[in-house]
Amino acid sequence: MDKAEMKHRILTCVECGEEFVFTVGAQTYFLEKGYHQSPKRCKACHAKFKRDKKFART
Ligand SMILES: [Zn+2]
Repeated sequence: MDKAEMKHRILTCVECGEEFVFTVGAQTYFLEKGYHQSPKRCKACHAKFKRDKKFART
């Protein structure tokens, strides 16, 4: 994808229902990592989700 055509996107967090910005920088990061899905959680919920996941694994 051409980076020049990328725009910030407003997404809704599945956890708290708040809208959050999926920035061009974050989209580029996702693409570089090979992720094709948009994030489902805002930054705060994502951090919490990651923490819970970590706990679940132990
Ligand atoms: Zn959230």
